Formats: sequence, C-alpha cells, structure tokens
Amino acid sequence: MVNKEQFIEETSQLLEWIANYFQDVENFPVRSKSAYGDLKKQLPENPPEKSESMEIIFKDFKQKVIPGITHWQSPKFFAYFPANGSIPSLQAEFLTAALGVQGMKWVTSPAATELEQVMMNWLRQMIGLPEHFTGVIQDTASVSTLCAVLAAREKTTGGTSNEQGVAGNPLRIYCSSEAHSSIEKAVRIAGIGSRNLVKIPVDEECRLVFSELESAIRSDLEKGYRPCCVIGALGTTGSCAIDPLDDMAELCSRHGIWFHVDAAFAGNALILPEFRKHLAGFDKADSFVFNPHKWMFTNFDCSAFFVRDSKQLQKTFELVPEYLKTGTDQPEQDFSNFGIQLGRRFRALKLWFVIRNFGLDGIREKLRGHFELAEYFEQWVKDHPRLELVVPRNLVVVCFRFRREGVGNEELNRINAHLLEAINTTGKIYISHTFVNGCYTLRFVCAQTNTELKHVEEAIKVIDQCLSHI
Ligand code: PLP
Repeated sequence: MVNKEQFIEETSQLLEWIANYFQDVENFPVRSKSAYGDLKKQLPENPPEKSESMEIIFKDFKQKVIPGITHWQSPKFFAYFPANGSIPSLQAEFLTAALGVQGMKWVTSPAATELEQVMMNWLRQMIGLPEHFTGVIQDTASVSTLCAVLAAREKTTGGTSNEQGVAGNPLRIYCSSEAHSSIEKAVRIAGIGSRNLVKIPVDEECRLVFSELESAIRSDLEKGYRPCCVIGALGTTGSCAIDPLDDMAELCSRHGIWFHVDAAFAGNALILPEFRKHLAGFDKADSFVFNPHKWMFTNFDCSAFFVRDSKQLQKTFELVPEYLKTGTDQPEQDFSNFGIQLGRRFRALKLWFVIRNFGLDGIREKLRGHFELAEYFEQWVKDHPRLELVVPRNLVVVCFRFRREGVGNEELNRINAHLLEAINTTGKIYISHTFVNGCYTLRFVCAQTNTELKHVEEAIKVIDQCLSHI
C-alpha cells in the first residue's frame, strides 16, 4: 500500500528539485561533458537484492545521472530540432504516469480514446487540415511515416501483401535526397527494399526538383515498376527546406499514388495563419505527420499522424486477438487498430493541458517570437565579415559557415567542423551541423520553449569568441 505521507514528502523533494532545475537550467553545460563510460563505471554491475531508500536513489540521480544529461530544455539549446517541454505538459505527464492506463481500446480507458479523438480534431483545425482527415497519436514521426508507407503498400497491392508478401513488380517509393532517414528505414521494414527508394535530386536550396520526380515516375511506369508512395518534406532536417508540395500532390492524384507529407518539425508553424497561406498542397496529402514534441511545447513523445482515408489505415493494422474481443466492439474507435502498437500511452492528456494552458494565442506568440529571434541571428550572420549564409533562412533554421577568400571547400569544411566542436565544447550553447551542396554547414535552430533575445545574444558572443581563435 502507498504510504501517503511518505509519498508526499519524497515527491515534494523531487518537485523542489525540478523547480530549481527549470530556474537554473541555462547554467548547466548544454551538451553533456561526459565521456563514454563515465556513468557505467559508477554503477554496480548487478541489481540490488534489498530495497534502497528514495533518498539514496535521488542522491545518485543528482550526482551520477545529471552530469551525463544534455540539457534539451535549456534556452541555449540550438541544435538538431528541439524536443520541447513546458510546465503544463510536464504536469499532465505526471498525471498520466499516476494513472498508468493502457489506451489500446476504447473500453480499456474510454477517456483516453475520446480525449485523443478530440485533441486530434483540435490539432487538425489548428494546422488547417480539411475535415476529412482523421488523426492518431504515434510516438514519433519515424513510426508515423512507417505507418504511412505500410498503408500505401496495402493500398497499392490491394491488401495482398498481408498474406503473400509483396508479390509482382517491385513497388517504388520516392522522396528527395534531403528527406529524413526514417523514410529509408520505413521502406526497408516494409519489405519494399532500399533499392526501390528513389531519391530525387534537390535544387540549390535543398528542395525536391519536381521535373526529376515526374520523369522518375514516368520512367518507372514504362519499366513496369509500381509507384506506391511519394513523400514530400515540409521542412527537411538539414535546412528546413520545403518541397513543391502542390505539384507533388497533383502528380500523385493523377497517378493514384499515396502522397505522404513529413512535416515533423515545421508542421507546427502551420498554426500561424501567415505561414500557412503561402503553402499550397500540404492539405491534399493522403497522410501527414508533425510532432508537437518538437515545437509545440509538448514533452517527447507526441507525434500527430493524420490520414485522409482512415479505413485504409484500419485495413492495414486491424487485428483483434480473442482476449480483446468484447462482443460490442467498434473497431474504428480503437486506436490500436491504427498503428503498430497494441498498448498505448495516454498522450492526449498533455496536449489537452498544453493547448488549454497556452491557448492558441500563447502558442502563436511563442512561435512568432522564435521567428523574430531567428531573423535577428540571420541578420547578424549576414553582417558578419567572416560568416556567410549557406542557404536562405527557412523558418527558424539558420544555416551558416565561416568563409575566407582563397580557401578551398575542403579546407573550409575542416575549419567549420573544428569551429562547431569549439563552440559546443564551451558548454555555453549547443548547435549542430549538416552538409549543404558539399559544404559543412552550422545549423542554428531558434525554437526552444524558453529562448529569449539574451540567449541568442550570448550565442552570438560565444560564436564570435570561437571565430577569433581561427
Ligand atoms: N522527419 C524529419 C523531417 C525530421 O527532422 C525528423 C527528426 O528530426 C524525423 C522525421 C524523425 O523524427 P522522430 O524522432 O519523431 O522519429
């Protein structure tokens, strides 16, 4: 039985620690300074036979685990794409953990299913997807994209791949050479084979070249391949480039090909009407994924996956074992029929807390603030005599590098890799890199929940100091 007093006392200490952590997080080295093995050598090889007190466990957490943490919630985290949290999200996660429900079927926790239905409908409206889209929460964009590829495969093969494997002429999947690696993983797992993933070249701003996609599909049809799915990027991982989604959607609809849009990070910006109105085509997709856990202040994991034809998704995944049959089942209400997992976390609760506590106005204000900070940083790069933008800024992602007249690209790549390491070793900020058109490129992403102008100014100071040592 729970000892209520003990629980309250112990948990109060954790809460106190969390409150202090949030207050001080920007003073921690953003990228952990640990070397491989630092934690492992402090831990016993075997599990304890006897109970240990929470006091000792918590002390070890602070002393042994925290040094090995990279602080994704630091406002000076400018690397990768963020994994944003927020107070309302954390509070909901706390309650979710307390309830510990399995929302695999409506009956296994009716509120979990119904809240997810309502939240996905709210999110659908928030990003401007038409009413006929149905949403389901997955853990990650990788799994959402895998579900899209599997549903596309089932549609193209008429469902025969379930029993017979993918028989007949090879299926083909298309995406740009800048698309996320999760697509190749999905194609492999779906049994379609990496060799049937056609990577379409990109232009100098990293966007898929539409005419190349058209001719790849034409040529494949002539050779007897079966084009199955085209995946468009709304915000590539490297530079946040946006593919010509409208043309791609039209082409797919002409050929009856499934069109999936991977908007893992940038899809959150669709909450801003001023961003959405410049972006035709995303709403014509067969499926669409974006991650509130990246840029909508909802703790990892929470990936919003939408499909135009939920029946197709259900056909792909529905399988109800005997022990889960109730006699009054409505399979279209059970989220386990819309994805790979049977057991499902109650993730809708944190969306409910976040959307209500921020309000749409509050979310938009944060996103607009991030755009302003990214513009500020971009302008600093443009004005800097030793830096250059590698591609024009996309949303809040600034791709830049050190340059010097007369120095070859290979040498510049080496210097920029060295510069990145020097910047991150300071522990004061954290940024990451990509390659754009053969150039080693530093990425500065302004999207952490609590980033303010002072943090961007500190980043500028750190980068300038590191530049002065080149
Ligand atoms: N798609 C894009 C464009 C991404 O940038 C990422 C990760 O950054 C992913 C997919 C994979 O996201 P997840 O970690 O949710 O699987």
